[in-house]
Amino acid sequence: MSQLSLRSIHKAFGTIDVIRGIDLDVAEGEFVVFVGPSGCGKSTMLRMISGLEDVTSGEINIAGKDVTRVAPAEREIAMVFQSYALFPHMTVAENIGFGLKLARRPRDEIKRKVEEVAAVLQIGQLLERTPRELSGGQRQRVAIGRAIIRQPRIFLFDEPLSNLDAALRVQMRLEIARLHQRLGATMIYVTHDQTEAMTLADRIIVFNKGHIEQVGAPMELYEWPANMFVAGFIGAPA
Ligand code: ADP
Ligand code: MG
Repeated sequence: MSQLSLRSIHKAFGTIDVIRGIDLDVAEGEFVVFVGPSGCGKSTMLRMISGLEDVTSGEINIAGKDVTRVAPAEREIAMVFQSYALFPHMTVAENIGFGLKLARRPRDEIKRKVEEVAAVLQIGQLLERTPRELSGGQRQRVAIGRAIIRQPRIFLFDEPLSNLDAALRVQMRLEIARLHQRLGATMIYVTHDQTEAMTLADRIIVFNKGHIEQVGAPMELYEWPANMFVAGFIGAPA
């Protein structure tokens, strides 16, 4: 059984068709990367999977359950964006624990889980700081921590590293790979960065104008691109 299955997903904004028939199955624990030109619908697709955006038609299943009309909070999905969207007036610990606080978990449980998550992300020494006192990479770790603590079935990442400088991007990429191994979670990751796509992905999904151009393992797409469009995305030097 797939962890996530998308059936015939369509999305229109007004009269504009942005997603034009997406079918995809993602296995439990799989790392899937979406690539494609700006405006081809990658973020819209993630927002529909998370429930932040309604589908115009089609069906979304998570762990065998139809969640097409289910509220975001009940989908067991966490999303990490490129802008960190942390609460500026809260400490790191409060930011990470916020979801559990909303869920009215006991204070000592929240404290213990925040400490566990912070240890995994190596930010245990930053728990009493506010976001303003953190570097970009540290902020992104807090944003990832906030996602992990809810133990979602599926993580969605929308270009999470694109605001970071090159060296930090490499470091965070390795950490995301490590996190994926450690949690064994299903991850869907949007990126512009070919190296990220090639090194992180079990499978790469190449989007173009709201449909899927090709799906395959990184080396498969690299060696056998279906057309020039895919070749331009996967084969061209970074
Ligand atoms: P990508 O993430 O691949 O760059 P997006 O999913 O952000 O692409 O956008 C796909 C298309 O949908 C773009 O043409 C964008 O302008 C349009 N779009 C996205 N969100 C909205 C919205 N809320 N209202 C109208 N058009 C939108
Ligand atoms: Mg986008």
